[in-house]
Formats: sequence, structure tokens, C-alpha cells
Amino acid sequence: MKIPRIRSDFLPLAAASFLVLAYNASFWRTFTAATGGFRAGNLPLYLGACLLLVLVFSGVLALVNYRRLFKPVLIVLLLLSSVTAHFMSQYGLVVDASMVQNVVETDVREAGELFNWKLVQAVVLFGLLPSWLVWRLPVQYGPLPRSILANGGVFAMSLLLAVGLLFLLFKTLAPAVREHRELRFMLTPTNVFQAANGYLKRKWATPTVVAPLGTDAAKGRLWSAAGSMQRTVTIIVVGETARAMNFSLNGYERNTNPELAQERSLVNFSNVASCGTATAISVPCVFSDLTRKGYADDKARSREGLLDVLRHAGFEVVWRDNNSGCKGVCDRVRFEDMSQPVPGSPDCNEEECYDARLLEGLPEMIRNAGQDLVVVLHQKGSHGPAYWKRYPAGFGKFGPVCRTNELEQCSREAITAAYDNSILYTDHFLGKTIALLKEAGIPASMFYFSDHGESLGEKSMYLHGAPYMFSPEEQRKVPMMLWMSDSFSQRFHIDRNCLAARSGQPFSHDNVFHSTLGMLNVSTAVRNPKLDLFQPCIRDA
Ligand SMILES: [Zn+2]
Repeated sequence: MKIPRIRSDFLPLAAASFLVLAYNASFWRTFTAATGGFRAGNLPLYLGACLLLVLVFSGVLALVNYRRLFKPVLIVLLLLSSVTAHFMSQYGLVVDASMVQNVVETDVREAGELFNWKLVQAVVLFGLLPSWLVWRLPVQYGPLPRSILANGGVFAMSLLLAVGLLFLLFKTLAPAVREHRELRFMLTPTNVFQAANGYLKRKWATPTVVAPLGTDAAKGRLWSAAGSMQRTVTIIVVGETARAMNFSLNGYERNTNPELAQERSLVNFSNVASCGTATAISVPCVFSDLTRKGYADDKARSREGLLDVLRHAGFEVVWRDNNSGCKGVCDRVRFEDMSQPVPGSPDCNEEECYDARLLEGLPEMIRNAGQDLVVVLHQKGSHGPAYWKRYPAGFGKFGPVCRTNELEQCSREAITAAYDNSILYTDHFLGKTIALLKEAGIPASMFYFSDHGESLGEKSMYLHGAPYMFSPEEQRKVPMMLWMSDSFSQRFHIDRNCLAARSGQPFSHDNVFHSTLGMLNVSTAVRNPKLDLFQPCIRDA
């Protein structure tokens, strides 16, 4: 029997559809659950997501759509996918770097226990059979230049359509994918490559050696000049997902800063850019001496940062966390995890703790400190998409609020109202922190800045994490403010009016490292006076 030859141009799309549909039962099950359970009304979403994946897969497959290349590649994919899909559905496994490690480093006897007839069936039915069909399939390839042109066209068109579709579905997809990170370990066969890549990276990674930084750091002249021998305390508050434009201190129409507005000693910096648009970049970046342009993940991890320099200068440093850890910047200082619910704490419910939990026991810590103290408080802040979970009932001033992770079910107004309430709670939290420092009665300061901003539907974007170059201002402009007790600014000769006069100038996370050292009169060669925003405002007495 003679089967008509199939034109090669159709192969990527056909293969992509088969991969997306035949091997991804676990993925689609989780995806449906992540988007609020199966509903007929969600049908356009399922179809859209499916089409999106088919387009991306077929775009990539088009790159290998050449005679004597496409079939072997596809057959490898089919075989890999059949095994992967079997283990995912049989054992509920997800495919990540540790999984690959298990497979590679397991012994024959252990592997034998995983071998059963179901696996054989799966490999025969979903691996060998389709592979054999693919092998036998008569395909008609045109001349090479034509193929190159056609494949390039398929690649470009597929990705273009995929981007358009992503734009349409972003509001629904972004929260689902963010809240269910396991999804990317379930999508077959990309999970296999991602996991293998992660495994190899881990295997070949050289152990990080942390280079010391600012070991020359010492308390400067002003520490000994003034007669005062009183200890000092500085609190650095690292905010989460707070964007500058929703602070009434920065001109927002809603009064989200009723408490901070009362603080006459507060300096609010109104034009501050973040280093990244995600916690994993901004937090290590803001505590490193590298600027945004010089920042790289591995570079920051292999050198000490601000907290180490402060330690070298003789400060006691503590990191208190109500977030997901300090991303390596507090590795060599005391760490207190305050994010786990504690029965009996007024600031926690069964699931999580509000940020006020970070202040529990802090007055005692300040009183009992043996040295000058620097405490970092890492907030949960306005972490989304569940903004309404970030504040206690008393702070639901704006409304009605969105009470679901599925942002597409809420209006922009309801999403923004919940977000604004979380800012209102941060205002209260910062007010409470200042009150606590006043109570302490020693020279004290509080330096607050957020890690990045958030999109709340502007330009159809939500959440954060956009590539910096293309990121909207909403994700990049962060609040930053400074409070100092009178005794603190006097001791370190800081002219608050001078700072206030400079507060509208453009600053960024690049300034934090050098300014903290400047504020605390730490002398070290690693402080760059040009990036120290206190430098022009220190009055030599
Ligand atoms: Zn963040």
C-alpha cells in the first residue's frame, strides 16, 4: 500500500499537538485545579492554554524540522515522554533536578523495583508505537533553502501568536502558575530538559567561596567624638511588593499613610528605583555593594554584603523574617524565622503571621543587646495575589475587596482595594516600629524600602517579575523612607532638613549599601561616597 507523502511543513504542529495532549494528564489535572476546578465557563481558558503550549512547542520543533534530523529528535522525545508521563501519573512524581539525580545515581536493584508491566505497557503504547509510526511516515521535504525559510516562518509565527495569546490570558495564567510552581515540573517533555539542566548545573557547580568584604570597617570618628556612650539601634525594614505610587506620602489619592504622615522626623524619598522586579534579585542586590548594572546572581553570592560589613565594624546584626528567607544575604548573621504561625500570638492566624509578629520581643532584644544593634525586618508586606490575606480585619478600610487568587474574577477596583489595605497595614507596621524605637529611648533610626513594586492591571499586567528592561514603572518604583530619633541625627551630625531637600531626587537600591554605612558613620574603603545619600548632609561640627 502506498501512503501519500506528507508535506514537512505540517510536522511541527502535528507533533506539538500530540506531545501536549498525549503525555500531560498530570499537568492538565493540576492546571484545572489551579484555575479554580473544572468549569464549563473555563473552557476558553483551557483551549487557550492548550493552544499556547502547542504554539510554543511547534515553534521550537520547527527549528529541527529537517530531513534526517526531525524524526530521530521526535522519537527521542516520544520515548522520554512516555516514561516520564508514566511515572508522573503512577507515582504522582514531578520531574525536577532531584528526580534526575535519583534516576542517575540509583542502583540497578532499586531501579528494578520501579520496573513493572504497567511501565512496559506505557512505553510500548505511548513510546514505541508512535515512534514506529513516525519512523515509517513518508515525509516530503522541499529543497533546503525553502525548508529553512518555511521553518523560520513557522517559528516566528508560532511565537508571535503565543505572545499575543499570553497577553490575553495573562491575568488568569500568572497567578495560577505563580501559586502552583509544580506546574513547570509537570509539563512534559520540557520538564525533562529543565530537570537535567538543573541536575548538571548542580553537579558541576564549584562550591561557592565567599570573599570577605570591608574587613577594614570600623566605627568612624563621630562614634568617639560625642560624649554619649549610649548604645544605638537601627532597624532596616525590607518591604515586599509595595509600590511607591500607592503611598499617600507620594501623592496617592487614598489615604494609605495616616500614621506615617504624623511623623515629623520622617524623610520620604519619593523617586526610588528598585534593582530588580522580583525578590530573588532585589534582596541580594540591595544588600550588596554591586550596583544594579554590575549585579549578577553568582557574583553577589560569592562575596559578603552590607550585613557582613556592619558585623566587621562591630555591630550585632539580626535578621527577622516573615517572608521566604533572606536569599543568602544573612547567612553569616543571626536569623530568626518569624513566619511560622505560633499558637497564642496575637499577630498570627492558623495559616500565617501578620508583619506585626516581627516586632514581638523586639523591645527586650534592644534592651538586652550587648552592642550597637542592627535588626533587619523582612516583611510579607503586600505579597500577592492574595492581598486580602496580608492584613488583619481592622485594616479593611477600602473595599469591596477581591478575595480570590483568581484575579480574573475580580475587578481592578477590588484588586486595588485589597492591595491598598495591605499598604495601610504596612503604614501601621512602620508606625508601630517607630513607636517602639521611641520607647527604647536610645539613639535610633529606621530605614525602610520595598524590594520591588507590583502591577495591578495597568497595561493588562498583574503581579511582578517582568524582565527589567521591559518592566513597567509600577513594578520598579518603590517606597523608601528614613526615620531618625533626634539623639541619633545629633550624634551622627545628620542634617535632616538637608535630607528632606534632597528627598525628591532620583535614588535607587544602589544607594542603600553605601548610605547605611554613611548613616552609621562606618569608615571603610568599600563605601562609595558618591552613592551615599547622607554624604552631602553630614555637618562637621
Ligand atoms: Zn518581593
